[in-house]
Amino acid sequence: MVATGVKVAVRCRPMSKREEQLGSKTCLEILPEKAQVKIMDLKNENDDLKLFTFDHAYGSESVQPQVYTDLGSPLLERALDGINGTIFAYGQTGSGKTWTMMGIESDPGLIPQLNMDLFKRADEIKQGESKEGGDCTVTVDFMLTASYIEIYNEVIMDLLNPGGKKLDIRESPEKGVYVQGVCEVVCQSSSDIMKLVKQGGAVRRVAATQMNQESSRSHSCFTIKMEKRTLEKTDEKTKTTMLTSKINLVDLAGSERASKTEATGSTLKEGAAINKSLMALGTVINALGEIAKGKSVHIPYRDSKLTRLLQESLGGNSSTLMIAALSPADYNHSETLGTLNYAKRVK
Ligand code: ADP
Ligand code: MG
Repeated sequence: MVATGVKVAVRCRPMSKREEQLGSKTCLEILPEKAQVKIMDLKNENDDLKLFTFDHAYGSESVQPQVYTDLGSPLLERALDGINGTIFAYGQTGSGKTWTMMGIESDPGLIPQLNMDLFKRADEIKQGESKEGGDCTVTVDFMLTASYIEIYNEVIMDLLNPGGKKLDIRESPEKGVYVQGVCEVVCQSSSDIMKLVKQGGAVRRVAATQMNQESSRSHSCFTIKMEKRTLEKTDEKTKTTMLTSKINLVDLAGSERASKTEATGSTLKEGAAINKSLMALGTVINALGEIAKGKSVHIPYRDSKLTRLLQESLGGNSSTLMIAALSPADYNHSETLGTLNYAKRVK
């Protein structure tokens, strides 16, 4: 297996109405053609302009279809060829993670666009590869299933089974790493799968409210499992080939530091646990980068629920993409610089 390393994209959201009213200045300059970001602390006249280079950089004028075409579509194509893929949205609360992953009904983000494309592409492949007549009949079928979970404070909950028990990660030789008892719903169409996305999203909000939590403190992971079955039939024999893969679409908890959250009892613990997961993710992805460069290092998948869960989709034969969401406003300068440094580290 060859590690492919991790690709990193950054996306800066537009200034909000409120920020405009408050007269916020932008501390970022995005150079999409060069995939570069320049950042400068406007409040500190001694600050040097810092330059970062990534695989993609999107400015505030970037549109959802472009982001899907560049980042979502290639991941889907590879998954249809049997290669696992993961997209993470990383960034402080309010920087545009959910906008990029989910978007809104009239301006859908990566998850809904990928869901639409998935069934279209699976149908095209089915039509293109199936054939009847001649000495060999080929039948291609896809089974597409979705699951949707949330990790809050290192506890895994099933967003498609609200009220269910907390879930555990297990490993077996046959199944690999898996979430025991998670709902895996077979979907026949993009409207089936979008129903699950909406259902899970609503559960996430209700759960957060009821338990007096904020959804910005949890990681959500929407997973699509694809099983492609090819049946080749001749007079003499029948041969079945299975190709399976997964796509994980992860909206990470806000990356703001624990010090910024209220430093009271459980709140601090929550902040700390989230940072543990994000730290572990950074370390794992960083280690994968070292391996891609030919070094031999230990990959600490077991350090958090998130990395353990995604173990088989990170590194090895898989494509991983981090989208770092950025706020342009100067009052977020230090968080934004933190996000850029995290993103640089995983490159
Ligand atoms: P996060 O999930 O990181 O907390 P959100 O995705 O909820 O942040 O974005 C915060 C606000 O900014 C939302 O009101 C969202 O609609 C808006 N927003 C974020 N990114 C964009 C964008 N690229 N274009 C337009 N509005 C955006
Ligand atoms: Mg969000």
